[in-house]
Amino acid sequence: MVIVMKNNASTEQIEAVETKIKKLNLHVHRVDGTMQTILGAIGDTSVADMRDFESMEGVLNVFRIMEPYKLCSRTFHPNNSIIKFNGLQLGGDRIVMMAGPCSVESEPQIYEIAEQVAKAGATILRGGVFKPRTSPYAFQGMGMEGLKIMRQAADKFKLQIVTEIIEPNQIEPMYPYIDIYQVGARNMQNFPLLRALSTTDKPVLLKRGMAATIEEFLMAAEYIMAGGNYKVILCERGIRTFEKYTRNTLDISAIPIVKKLSHLPIIADPSHGTGKREFVAPLARAAVAAGADGLIIEVHNQPEKALSDGPQSLFPDQFQRLIEELKIIAWAIGRTV
Ligand code: PEP
Ligand code: MN
Repeated sequence: MVIVMKNNASTEQIEAVETKIKKLNLHVHRVDGTMQTILGAIGDTSVADMRDFESMEGVLNVFRIMEPYKLCSRTFHPNNSIIKFNGLQLGGDRIVMMAGPCSVESEPQIYEIAEQVAKAGATILRGGVFKPRTSPYAFQGMGMEGLKIMRQAADKFKLQIVTEIIEPNQIEPMYPYIDIYQVGARNMQNFPLLRALSTTDKPVLLKRGMAATIEEFLMAAEYIMAGGNYKVILCERGIRTFEKYTRNTLDISAIPIVKKLSHLPIIADPSHGTGKREFVAPLARAAVAAGADGLIIEVHNQPEKALSDGPQSLFPDQFQRLIEELKIIAWAIGRTV
């Protein structure tokens, strides 16, 4: 249930509504907008009578959110959410570029790639150190040692870090070194992991599961928000379809659909979305044209020697050219890169 307060509602009136919500054993989620305060009453709202709230002082309007997801629904928060961290903004006019290797492999590798993606215009360095590999015999990542090297490389070139977390007990050790926790496609419905990330104050990049509907995707975001972490960035990374030509089918239509249903920012991953280098740039351009708030792209200085996802990694000069093209597309839709 959503209770919209009048523009001139007093602090006491808002608090009285909050108290009433809590008395019904519901959770209060408060959004203080520039014009008015909106209170979400979340939980088993069958016990709540809307009329009891409608008659309270300072209340403008009361309604129920029909969608199963509540906090991430646009009904609850009509304006786009802008996620702010370390001087960066995600979900605003500027399209954010995240780039780097699939995996951190060595000190020279991550330094070289960090330098090149920073020079091209990326602001966030990607790179996995805990890799969820299909085969237990494949490279599993450099772990915390890799993350420490990655942090130094990112700092040297003034980049932020996004990297994947695969277990709740990694939250604490990773915390000092990372800027965004990435939840991979294979973990989109790892509910203990989502719940654990709901209590951190750092943003979470949530990738769409390869067999997840848009509604399931938003319900996963809801898990993170329900525990109090509203800094969720969604990522369309391709879904599994009958098509075998590409590794996945990048669902471009999910971008405007998610924007309609939710206020959360959504970025696209055309690298995992296609699995083939030659299709990464066309799909990246399409994603930006469709309204993506950012892109996460795999870039490698020696893709033929990469320990994971070499065939879908761009060469640094291809990434640089892509950014120049994206600037023109962004301009056409009133945004910047
Ligand atoms: C990755 O970003 O390297 C990755 C494993 O992505 P996904 O979870 O989308 O497969
Ligand atoms: Mn990868």
